[in-house]
Amino acid sequence: MPDYTVYCAAMSSAHDILQSVFGYPSFRPPQDQIIEAVILGDDALVLMPTGGGKSLCYQIPAIVREGCGVVISPLIALMQDQVSAMLLLGVRAAFLNSTLNADSVREIEQALSAGELDLLYIAPERFSQARTLQLLQQSSISLFAIDEAHCVSQWGHDFRSDYLRLSLLHELFPEVPRIALTATADERTRAEIINRLQLGHAQQFIAGFDRPNIRYRIALKHNGKQQFLKFLQEEHASDAGIVYCLSRKKTEDIAYWLQDQGFNALPYHAGLDAATRADHQRRFLREEGVIIVATIAFGMGIDKPDVRFVAHLDLPKTIESYYQETGRAGRDGQAADAWMIYGLQDVIKLRQMMETSDGDEEHKRAEQHRLNAMLGLCEITSCRRQALLAYFAETLAQPCGNCDTCLQPPQTWDGTEAARKALSVTYRSNQRFGVNHLIDVLRGAETDKIFQFDHQHLTSYGIGKDLDNNQWRSVFRQLVARGYMSVDLERFGALRLEESCRPLLRGEESIQLRRDIKQKAAKRQTKTPLAADVDIALWEALRECRRVFAQDQGVPPYVIFHDSALQEMCVTLPRDMREFSLVSGVGERKLEKYGPAFIRVIGDHLAA
Ligand code: ADP
Ligand code: ZN
Repeated sequence: MPDYTVYCAAMSSAHDILQSVFGYPSFRPPQDQIIEAVILGDDALVLMPTGGGKSLCYQIPAIVREGCGVVISPLIALMQDQVSAMLLLGVRAAFLNSTLNADSVREIEQALSAGELDLLYIAPERFSQARTLQLLQQSSISLFAIDEAHCVSQWGHDFRSDYLRLSLLHELFPEVPRIALTATADERTRAEIINRLQLGHAQQFIAGFDRPNIRYRIALKHNGKQQFLKFLQEEHASDAGIVYCLSRKKTEDIAYWLQDQGFNALPYHAGLDAATRADHQRRFLREEGVIIVATIAFGMGIDKPDVRFVAHLDLPKTIESYYQETGRAGRDGQAADAWMIYGLQDVIKLRQMMETSDGDEEHKRAEQHRLNAMLGLCEITSCRRQALLAYFAETLAQPCGNCDTCLQPPQTWDGTEAARKALSVTYRSNQRFGVNHLIDVLRGAETDKIFQFDHQHLTSYGIGKDLDNNQWRSVFRQLVARGYMSVDLERFGALRLEESCRPLLRGEESIQLRRDIKQKAAKRQTKTPLAADVDIALWEALRECRRVFAQDQGVPPYVIFHDSALQEMCVTLPRDMREFSLVSGVGERKLEKYGPAFIRVIGDHLAA
């Protein structure tokens, strides 16, 4: 049991550091408990959603404890920015990875040996080199932080083998506390992290996975591009965002089309050469208001706090990927949108991809199962956030009030009769036709195909004139989404019945369907996350001031100050250094370095 007074001193210095170095008034629970455990020398396993504030959990103990904190992170592209951000706060930080030349490496090694570092970021592949281990053993180490700890889990991470070697830490440095961090929630991954990294004795800290500042919206796709354009123009005209598409070609189409519409958009996918990819990623991080249009190849380790929206123009395959991708929005805690459109075509395309993918039957069945859960999320008429969290075994007691179904409760209608008609026309035409033809039959159309197959004589012919084309599509989509029907891929998207439709077909079960409405202007989020009374001219002037500093120091603008800090300045209008020091995110270093310039901008603005 450590000395109580020593402990109190350590915790109060943790709090001092939070305020003086980072400029934040208080910890977000459970940061304080985690920091306490690590400062006391315990191991910790931290599960927190993206944007939850994991970094402070090792940064502060690394500063408080004797020696250098070693952070193992696979995100090499980000190390430079992470270190720059620390240096700006006055924390003595450095990184070791393959981008450094021999001289720089030697310099950093010397600084470490001489006890001149608070934090050292190391790439996993470098960690297991004998030279690095030897160096670490000769130095005073305050803690090991294992970032993105889910990389040890078996589902094929590039860094997996290097991460597995991290079990060495326990044996080589039994006295040094280890803190493993991840945003990946599931039980199996957690068990594997504990097992692989020998964290059996670690305290576990599991923060809720809710991201209350993200507004979830899922709408029906009718004219995808126009819907998306409207969303951008009305709500995010100059914001940074990520757009996900299923195919490489589509990312390029959409990116160039957005450029034509006057947006600063760039494509990103694994088929682009490495230099272009790196350039696009860099511009996304460094410039303001860049939209990246990407396949899922983009995102891992994109640590940009001011992404204001994540849009899905195609349906993701699982809720896990949807949640992870949307989680890249609003890491700074400011309002952000997760916006998605989807349609029957998406379902067909995804099922097709799964059917033709490699992998055994069991794997395919698991994939189908996860896709069904995703479709369920799209079609539900209750709170999306409650459903999302429930999927991750978390309960949200009340509807959230910040998703589309909460803001504009969808209407339902009794679709029993329509569903029966849809199922029976499918059955009577021998489950060999796609949705368009089936709708033609129901609506009594006179197409060549109908006469070719003699479908004008089916009993279903013309019995569905009461609904229009879109309404029928909606019925079929919901039947497929709920698993009453499936799409036969050998037959080019023919619909067929599933066992579960029997009670419905026989009239023993009824079904409530969602009434599709054309997306109306839902209550709008503000364009930029500005409070209503903020003066746009001042906001722009502060952004310009930030941009100049950022460019000068070669860091992304948010490393200087987050949007939230600028916004607070707009509201509190600090006139002197004391007032400026009260802004959240202004620590001693930043106060000294940037305070005068920003105060001048505010003064000039007020005088004008
Ligand atoms: P994660 O690594 O969990 O995704 P970060 O550590 O990057 O999250 O933190 C997300 C954002 O929240 C950062 O901008 C960070 O500065 C901010 N933050 C973290 N802790 C606090 C706090 N106690 N008070 C205010 N802001 C915080
Ligand atoms: Zn809700």
